Amino acid sequence: MEIRKGVAVSPGIAIARAMVIDSRDYRIPRRSILPSQRGREVQRVHEAFDRAVSQLIALEQAQAGRENQIKDIFAVHVRFLHDDSFRRRITEFVEAELVTAEYAVSTILREIASHFAGIDDEYISERAADIYDIERRLLTQLLGEVRQEVEHLKEQVVIVAHELTPTQTAGFNKTFVKGFATEAGGRTSHTAIVARSLGLPAVVALEDVTSSLTSESIVIIDGNRGVVIIDPDAQTLEEYQNYARELTRFEVELSSIRDKPAVTRDGVEIELLGNIEFPNEAVMAKEKGGVGIGLYRTEFLYLYSGTEPAEEDHYEAYAEVSRHFEGRPIVIRTMDLGADKLPYAARHMGESNPVLGLRSIRYCLQNLTMFKTQLRAILRASVLGDIRVMFPLIGNLQELRQAKMILRDVMEDLDEYAVPYNPDIKVGIMIETPSAALTAALLASDCNFFSIGTNDLIQYTLAVDRGNEHVATLYSAADPAIFNLLRSVIHDANKARIGLSVCGEVAGDPEYIMLLLGMGVRTLSLAPPMIPEIKQIVRSVTIKECNHLARKVGTMDSQRQIKNFLRDAATRIIPEAF
Ligand code: PEP
Ligand code: MG
Repeated sequence: MEIRKGVAVSPGIAIARAMVIDSRDYRIPRRSILPSQRGREVQRVHEAFDRAVSQLIALEQAQAGRENQIKDIFAVHVRFLHDDSFRRRITEFVEAELVTAEYAVSTILREIASHFAGIDDEYISERAADIYDIERRLLTQLLGEVRQEVEHLKEQVVIVAHELTPTQTAGFNKTFVKGFATEAGGRTSHTAIVARSLGLPAVVALEDVTSSLTSESIVIIDGNRGVVIIDPDAQTLEEYQNYARELTRFEVELSSIRDKPAVTRDGVEIELLGNIEFPNEAVMAKEKGGVGIGLYRTEFLYLYSGTEPAEEDHYEAYAEVSRHFEGRPIVIRTMDLGADKLPYAARHMGESNPVLGLRSIRYCLQNLTMFKTQLRAILRASVLGDIRVMFPLIGNLQELRQAKMILRDVMEDLDEYAVPYNPDIKVGIMIETPSAALTAALLASDCNFFSIGTNDLIQYTLAVDRGNEHVATLYSAADPAIFNLLRSVIHDANKARIGLSVCGEVAGDPEYIMLLLGMGVRTLSLAPPMIPEIKQIVRSVTIKECNHLARKVGTMDSQRQIKNFLRDAATRIIPEAF
């Protein structure tokens, strides 16, 4: 049994066989074996070779009748794998050095590849890429199943990978994929956000976890405590099975408050809205008790299909959401592409610092055709209900005015063709950068509402990449700097009498709810599966005690002090969540 601590990003417990995917580009650590395990490791090498060869022959045959180079490539790989001296080099390495098959394959193949790469002959040096390809194929055999198998699962698994993209995660079949663990990522990376939306337990920032597993390993993912247990012993397994049952019971209990209002014990109503990435999630937002959509991340329309959505694709998506929430607020955020949300093809476009680069509203303002297409669809949908438009990552007043000017241009276009829209559509912005937070009073005079995007606001304020596992422990909302910024933005919004909500992940985090209410927040937008739990907290507290708590946090001087204080307070209110 091996217990690994990572960062909890999506609550719940998953217990299943591990499926390791994407062995691409990762380093295989040196792991020793006992002398008695030699025979088995050598056998694993042979089996991996044999399976790789069968796979390649099948691929080669699939190209039969076609005259193409792909067929030749497969044939070369098969010849290479049939070369006895090469296979022997690997098995001898296993036996002499007492290391795992994975380590031997990786070490020997990389040696050969770098030897090839160094030869001053273009044809031979290019063969290095083939060797890496063969290495990947063998490692995939050794470490688990191939990625394609995820799409054809027949049994329940937990996915273990170096990294998963948000769209890969969104594509998981929830009947079979019960949770995941990754080496990369942080609490507010978009993959984590998708996991929460899907209700998939997940833990990230687990160094080298993929190499600790075989395809036979049973894994427990504890998305509440941020723990992953590999090959649990019988007692641990039983404890976790009981814990999982308890959590399910708690969930069932919570579903009974679905239709009850989100009102504090002293009678203050709190608006709980859903964050969604796909239009069909609106159903879940409603089922879980959400009273509208506070953040629709429309960039997923773009990411998932891989092509640029047409105006009709946008319109259909917005119309679908509006059908579930007639007359209720639906906040459509314009495309927030860039950083970790890039279409696959653009992922290697080479911005050296994409988080500070051409992302979000900046990208839209430089791609006006795409931006206007989306705005036309939003405006057309605005007659269907209380549809609002929100611009992400606004950095200053000029950017907001530019975005609004484009919106007006699009309105004029629609006027020309007598297409109906709501001319008074509410226009809001996300407060996600320190510059926006510090000039909130100016920005408030030019828009109808703010939604505080704490995920990015924390990243930019603390200078901590939200998706980087190496600094994941530095990333925290419980920082005096964040407290001060939030307090000032909330104050400015209230003074200007504009709408205010919080839609970053803190809005769905049980530990932060009392603080947000105590600071004056009355609208929260969060991942739909978290709505019942957050409603339970709202219904258990008084604004008076929340105010008191917020005042106390205002006197604290460190992340640790704030975090512990908030956790203690939340644990007293809803112990089951912890
Ligand atoms: C945020 O930054 O807090 C936010 C809600 O937007 P996203 O997570 O999509 O960047
Ligand atoms: Mg953001």
